[in-house]
Amino acid sequence: MAEKTGAVLGEVLAERQRQDAKWGQQDHDPSTWLMVLAEEVGEANQAVFETLFPTYDKRAAQHGPRTLAEYRQELIQVAAVAVAAIESLDRQDQLPG
Ligand SMILES: [Mg+2]
Repeated sequence: MAEKTGAVLGEVLAERQRQDAKWGQQDHDPSTWLMVLAEEVGEANQAVFETLFPTYDKRAAQHGPRTLAEYRQELIQVAAVAVAAIESLDRQDQLPG
């Protein structure tokens, strides 16, 4: 189990590095981070929904059928954004106590 967890966390780390390369260090307030996280959760939701119900995939003709691999990648992005929000909060040192 730990080996598989480590492999997934390695993917999350790679996604964090990709995000930093794309956006630079992000220091949002907590509510903004939650909106960014919700946007990523929405993308994961859309990916799995369109995989399970391809009739509702408006872009299927352009991109072909959605797959659970896309859902999985969106979950990696969700995890990476959550990590980025924690890092940002820690940098801002706003934790009580
Ligand atoms: Mg995404």
